[in-house]
Amino acid sequence: MKNYLHGKRGVDLLHDPLLNKGTAFTDAERDALGVRGLLPPRVHSQAEQVHRVLESFRRKTSDLEKYIYLISLQERNESLFYRVVMDNLDEMMPIIYTPTVGQACQKWGHIFRRSRGLYITPSDRGRIVQLLRNWPYADVRMIVVTDGERILGLGDLGANGMGIPVGKLSLYTACAGIHPAQCLPIMLDVGTNTESLLADPLYIGTPQKRLRGLAYDDLVDELVKAVQQMFPQACLQFEDFGNANAFSLLHRYQDRICTFNDDIQGTAGVTLAGLYSASRLSGVKLTDMRILFYGAGEAGIGIGDLIVDALKAEGVSEATARRQCWFFDSKGLVVASRTDLVEHKLRFAHDHAPEKDLAAAVAALKPHALIGVSGMAGAFTEPVVQVMGKLNQRPLIFALSNPTSKSECTAEQAYTWTKGRAVFASGSPFAPVTLDGRTYVSGQGNNSYIFPGVGLGVIASQASRVTNEMFFVAAKTLAGLVTEGDLAIGRIFPDLTRIREVSTAIAIAVAETAFNRGLARQIRPADMAAHVTGQMYQPDYEHYL
Ligand code: NAD
Repeated sequence: MKNYLHGKRGVDLLHDPLLNKGTAFTDAERDALGVRGLLPPRVHSQAEQVHRVLESFRRKTSDLEKYIYLISLQERNESLFYRVVMDNLDEMMPIIYTPTVGQACQKWGHIFRRSRGLYITPSDRGRIVQLLRNWPYADVRMIVVTDGERILGLGDLGANGMGIPVGKLSLYTACAGIHPAQCLPIMLDVGTNTESLLADPLYIGTPQKRLRGLAYDDLVDELVKAVQQMFPQACLQFEDFGNANAFSLLHRYQDRICTFNDDIQGTAGVTLAGLYSASRLSGVKLTDMRILFYGAGEAGIGIGDLIVDALKAEGVSEATARRQCWFFDSKGLVVASRTDLVEHKLRFAHDHAPEKDLAAAVAALKPHALIGVSGMAGAFTEPVVQVMGKLNQRPLIFALSNPTSKSECTAEQAYTWTKGRAVFASGSPFAPVTLDGRTYVSGQGNNSYIFPGVGLGVIASQASRVTNEMFFVAAKTLAGLVTEGDLAIGRIFPDLTRIREVSTAIAIAVAETAFNRGLARQIRPADMAAHVTGQMYQPDYEHYL
């Protein structure tokens, strides 16, 4: 008997989601593994099971019900879950990740069924290694950790934010084939300042105010050290931390351990790729582009920093590159004369008169691209978009705030207000828009185009660090996969159905970068493509006999 069963039989086998095949256990397996009689008699193929799952899934009347159904399937039978998700990604991704995962997090305590991942609280100080030891899988390679302070654009959801690491890791597996047993979701439950959660008797987290200061930093530090001790090959991805912690944690750890922050660096990768593709439509090269960001937080500054790296790689000086990026935050245009700017905004604070009105700032700066990363729904009003349309033959309008309800404008508004000339991308998906008989398919600046491939490349090379260069390389690779056909319908990213191909290409490029920079902790394989693809999980059932 193959050793991946770890001696499991009978009910234990059926209750292990990584091994369970449900009605797909063959007759011979049912006898040999002690599950005869524990299953209905008819043996079904995985394809038939998929048919049943899709039927039940599509019968659900709300997206949240669909989410609950899929998560329950994941808890029973991971291969089937991934088969369904991977073969129907367009339909499933908005359910297992943004936007539906946002609703799920808001109601997490109310829809909670079975625990997944690790919860670590301040009372675990001094014993985090022991908690990691409780995790049933030894070869962890990808960890997503959040403290739930800034879940999507929904704010502080405390321990309810666990839906994010769970969902994100599902995407690592579905999009890039990182084995589910190598993925570990962690909730660092340091409390919440959201009163409605503190007052909710079904809230699953520690019902206390957020831990701050040194005690918080020490807890994170212990987690980082414990991860290095227990899972030395793992990459630790920080996700949906509040803005101040996100920047300071990245700054503290990025040169010390294998880590990255997807909100900052992954977002930057996908947006840079979008700008490269959009420039093929607008004819304005990145080196000539002026970009105005509405929102100067993790996403905005991360994108700005990567654009500066990209421009420097094309020979532009750092000072010039920075002046191509302008920011507008909740207090107005980010300018040098302001005295209220936090550290990460200072490098983009240029000399200019203060300006509190976005449309006026657009008119004054004449940007080629307007990128919304503010979480402020509707901020791209008709006058704002119209000024962009007057200034540019093909204005680049990226309304990236998530979930859909937070988008700075809708696809329909962007196309209508520019008479179809906008090159539009959003954070959450929008349905195609038909205007004057022409249909526009907007791009979703979905981080899933970038982080799974980067993660796979890091794992495949056993990279000791995740560098900004890797995100630059990932962005270039992604942009290179956008076809003329994509651009013809207005889409600046490849079709999501190509995600495995995209992730594989990015992983190869990232792994090459790790080897070129001396960051790989293994011998360079002769055939990198075969090396990368050979590691990718496929959700096919194992034959146990
Ligand atoms: P953040 O909290 O770090 O930053 C938000 C920024 O918006 C801050 O600079 C804040 O000053 C600014 N802001 C708030 N209100 C404003 C107002 N009225 N006018 C102008 N600026 C205002 O958050 P973040 O991580 O940068 O994320 C911001 C948004 O971007 C979220 O909605 C998130 O979902 C979205 N996002 C999208 C993607 C994607 O599409 N791939 C990736 C990451 C983040």
